[in-house]
Amino acid sequence: MVSAVIGFPRVGKQRELKFASEKYFRGEINKQELEKIAIELRKEHFIYQKEQGITYISSNDFSYYDGILDTAVLLNVVPECYRALKLNELDTYFAMARGYQGAEGDVKALAMKKWFNTNYHYMVPEISDDMKIELVGDKPFVLYQEAKELGLETKPVIIGPFTFLKLAKYQGTKKAKDFAEDMINAYSQLLEGFHKLGVKWVQFDEPILVTDLTGEDIELFEQIYQRLLKRKGNCKILLQTYFGDVRDCYSNIIGIAFDGIGLDFLEGKKNLELVKQNGFPKDKILFAGLLNGKNIWKCNYKNVLEIKKELQEYAEQIVLSTSCSLLHVPYTLDSETKLEQEVKQHFAFAVEKLAEMKELCYLAESSDYTKEQVYLDNQQICESERKYQDKEVQKKTALLEEKDFTRLPKRAERQELQKKVYHLPLFPTTTIGSFPQTQEVKKNRSSYRKGEIDKVAYDKKVFELIHDCIRKQEELGIDVLVHGEYERNDMVEFFGENLAGYIFTEKAWVQSYGTRCVKPPIIFGDVKRIRPITVEYSSYAQSLTDKPVKGMLTGPVTILNWSFPREDISLKEMAYQIGIAIREEVLDLEEAGINIIQIDEAALKEKMPIRKSDWYSGYLDWAIPAFRLCHSGVRPETQIHTHMCYSEFEEIIRDIDNMDADVISFEASRSKLTILDAIKDSEFETEVGPGIYDIHSPRVPSVEELEEVLKKLLTKIDKDKLWVNPDCGLKTRGIEETEASLKNLVEAAKIVREKAEKC
Ligand code: GLN
Ligand code: ZN
Repeated sequence: MVSAVIGFPRVGKQRELKFASEKYFRGEINKQELEKIAIELRKEHFIYQKEQGITYISSNDFSYYDGILDTAVLLNVVPECYRALKLNELDTYFAMARGYQGAEGDVKALAMKKWFNTNYHYMVPEISDDMKIELVGDKPFVLYQEAKELGLETKPVIIGPFTFLKLAKYQGTKKAKDFAEDMINAYSQLLEGFHKLGVKWVQFDEPILVTDLTGEDIELFEQIYQRLLKRKGNCKILLQTYFGDVRDCYSNIIGIAFDGIGLDFLEGKKNLELVKQNGFPKDKILFAGLLNGKNIWKCNYKNVLEIKKELQEYAEQIVLSTSCSLLHVPYTLDSETKLEQEVKQHFAFAVEKLAEMKELCYLAESSDYTKEQVYLDNQQICESERKYQDKEVQKKTALLEEKDFTRLPKRAERQELQKKVYHLPLFPTTTIGSFPQTQEVKKNRSSYRKGEIDKVAYDKKVFELIHDCIRKQEELGIDVLVHGEYERNDMVEFFGENLAGYIFTEKAWVQSYGTRCVKPPIIFGDVKRIRPITVEYSSYAQSLTDKPVKGMLTGPVTILNWSFPREDISLKEMAYQIGIAIREEVLDLEEAGINIIQIDEAALKEKMPIRKSDWYSGYLDWAIPAFRLCHSGVRPETQIHTHMCYSEFEEIIRDIDNMDADVISFEASRSKLTILDAIKDSEFETEVGPGIYDIHSPRVPSVEELEEVLKKLLTKIDKDKLWVNPDCGLKTRGIEETEASLKNLVEAAKIVREKAEKC
């Protein structure tokens, strides 16, 4: 058996590409210097793969920012506003990625969107009616040749025409199908180029095939490929899918003249069944995605080899492949110097996964792999009793019952009681939690981390900052205060550090978008709260003021979604374990006199299953209860808030209401009013604070502007249910603009309140 890799991480082991790009943005290095670093990185990545004997190595998986953006530029899909800047090619590219402000003009970046169910984000191509889609670049050719010069025959990978068209945003009246002709021509030219270079295999990534498709979609897909494949010359074509199964179009794709089909047998629940039911064409190679490209656990060889055996009955030629690009996992365990061996032995990052592929290929050829040493070693680790198992936690989770998820009395009754207890004015003002993370705040944290100051000195500073923050908010006249979150800069790490079962890495960075990388912690064992996490900060803040101070926690679904999860227990169990830990914190806060508690679920929607039919069986059916578990034990007068960072939740509006919070704040300033209609139409019971200005920009909104927003909101939201707040935490903003904006926010609320009270 031979192996294939769908794509390799690009930013570099030490995030070299990130740092080089940022230097380039600041003008500290020039284009040639940046390119030199990129070439070195690509070379390093090719060598890693070559050393492990990977047969089908991808080229063109490298990108300075994002692969979809690369394809847009390659196909001439460059909106006029960027062309008008008249920058060189690379700078135009970066202008599309990051926006541009300079003498040449002022343009915003293209929109950015989450890449399927991952935490990677792609740039959304914008196609206007007058655009001429055609092949204008040569990056895939150049990168192929670069590898060739290193003695490697690679398979160029490129996002497929169908997925590209489906992900693009259309500015005019034309739609995807109106551009099909141009796309076929452009991709034909691409194939012609590959043919001329002697390329043997080309990989077209079509992940959109794992989403719910209409008959029309499938027709368009077939139409494109039936024509395109006539022009493939000597190149063999691999249709690559990942992140799910192809249940809507399996029979269609096996009927098209692809030479290879790549299916994900890990996340693609139905793929195995589809192969069994419909068979697999003899003349095609099955690229079987069996090695997890998304998680960091050592592969269990037994499982892989067993599925492979099953597949063998249907497919004659099988290539062992990753389930998706390795872009979604960190580089290498070699960079982790602090992990204990007992823990470390369970992990495989990108480089280690290559070695696993090599071993698997070897085992697949063995007459009895169960006797091979590498197999036995693997099984020993995979089956061993893991550290950080906690029987007590397991028992607690197993014993949860309906009443643990149900808060009493009913919300309407609670809300009425809370109105009496808190005497908040109409349209109460508040913020989402964090205040600006100034140099001073960051310095305090880094000095503590480096051991330059001790915990006492560190906390002293944090308390000072909290003190000033409370005074500032009182001065501004805000109604429900926050402590400012100076003790954290991350919504998950801070909590994880106080939870047993969590593991932290040093260098396990994963690209989130462009130059931004995240370092998700790992849920290694059963999760349990070790000690109170936020209580001392919140109670100190409350001791300084007569106004209510909101306690500030991250919810279980967000903590889970921003971590690498375990694979030996279900997501539901993990969410419930974390839920119990947060519940303990909620109850401690309440006990300490914090009567308003916000539990953020910024990432609730992030891991929503790709297919609608899976939303309620395997996600929302535990995600919503996990949240309820956190707060069902509080007193009726304790007010529970939640916050979400996106407002595209129209489709699950009832589920959000069903979280049974008393108040929700969310981002609304950018995605406008559709969410408000949904709130109105669904008779949403939770009180709402749609963000009235965008904190992602340093702009200070005027009082008049905010008043207008509030008036608009009042056309859709009941006046006793409306809260007034920015759309997200203020941690990335500067102090000056923050204070100015909040001052205007309070003023606008006051004006609108006075008017409302009069009538
Ligand atoms: N409470 C957090 C903050 O204000 C929420 C952050 C978020 O929604 N991403 O920073
Ligand atoms: Zn937010």
